[in-house]
Amino acid sequence: MNKSSRTIEYEKMFAEWFGAGRAFSFWKARVGLYAILKAMGVGAGDEVVIPGYTCVVDVNPVLYLKAKPIYVDVEPNTFNIDVKALEEKITPNTKVIMAQHTYGYPCDMDAIVGIAEKSGTYVIEDCCHAFGSRYKGRTAGTFGQVAYFSSQWNKPYTTGLGGMVLVRDGELANKIESLCSREMVMPSKKEVLMLTAQLAVYRAFIYPRTTALAQNAFRLLTRRGVVVGSSSTSELGPAQMEPDYFKAMSCVQARSGLKQLRKVEGNIAHRKRIAQYYDDLLEKKGWVTRQYDRSTSEPVMVRYPVRIIAKERALHEAAKSGVELGDWFECPLHATEAPLEAYDYKTGTCPEGEKASAEVVNLPVHPRVNQKTAEKTVEFITRFAQVR
Ligand SMILES: *Cc1c(COP(=O)(O)O)cnc(C)c1O
Repeated sequence: MNKSSRTIEYEKMFAEWFGAGRAFSFWKARVGLYAILKAMGVGAGDEVVIPGYTCVVDVNPVLYLKAKPIYVDVEPNTFNIDVKALEEKITPNTKVIMAQHTYGYPCDMDAIVGIAEKSGTYVIEDCCHAFGSRYKGRTAGTFGQVAYFSSQWNKPYTTGLGGMVLVRDGELANKIESLCSREMVMPSKKEVLMLTAQLAVYRAFIYPRTTALAQNAFRLLTRRGVVVGSSSTSELGPAQMEPDYFKAMSCVQARSGLKQLRKVEGNIAHRKRIAQYYDDLLEKKGWVTRQYDRSTSEPVMVRYPVRIIAKERALHEAAKSGVELGDWFECPLHATEAPLEAYDYKTGTCPEGEKASAEVVNLPVHPRVNQKTAEKTVEFITRFAQVR
């Protein structure tokens, strides 16, 4: 497999931005996670610890490699893995701890890295929500041996679909490199063409007012196989890995990624500003705002989560009235239509994750949200009762 010069340039610039390690690009973030796990030699008999409030696409690669996902409940304020519960789940078979920085809140990395060092396990940071978040002054993605990032439609910045892996461990980087050169396939011309068209549509049409509409249309078309969605139907079920799953990033995505990365500082500053604005507006309405440790954490939010009583009704009314409101996560393994038992998840295992799934909606903070949209969104959401 030959990488384009654009892709090489994007990987180089990405690693430089973090000032650490080597970067490898993929068609999607989940494919990057698969490469990480495979390069680590994760397989039958190994346990991978995952927060019980995540995307199902993070669980699939674990199952593809015949390893066992071990779900750990989350902590109710930041929705990140509960480090006390985590410690109790470590066994001699634990090979990997997944540290997912949910919504942009950085995990308690001192505790997680401490547990990993004591038990001799790898730490993979899931930075799909957290580009630029900091913990004790250090950027998320530079604590574990390796981290992965998504640039799918809803993520910190978008290249349509896309994933990046940042490896700090030299030996692991070499293994990922040789795995990619041996096994990775290029996306088809048709896939790249469809992605290019979708990116154009996204740039032209997706504004907060139209997002819900556009997303519903995308989902419908994806199910019918008309567009390259972020998740095809078979991928959402605990099915076998699709034959062309291990796919490279296309030149189109890399070009877009380079452009986004050059202006990422502005994106980060914007997200911080809008999240702060939500804090101020919600506080004026008497709502509890973001609860995180300000002495250690500097989150860059991908979305702004709030808990409400009538989640379903709020989502329905938001879509009708042109308010952009997110549904993450709708269940502890988001977006799966298959029963959770198929992923080794037993209902009741992660009560906080389940509670959050029933209560949390999220407000947009992306670059197309301005103060006026934020005000309108807060007016809308505060008509519902908050769960405290
Ligand atoms: C979006 C997301 C992913 C997967 O990203 P893709 O690029 O769509 O594969 C993984 N983990 C989390 C927490 C995500 O939100």
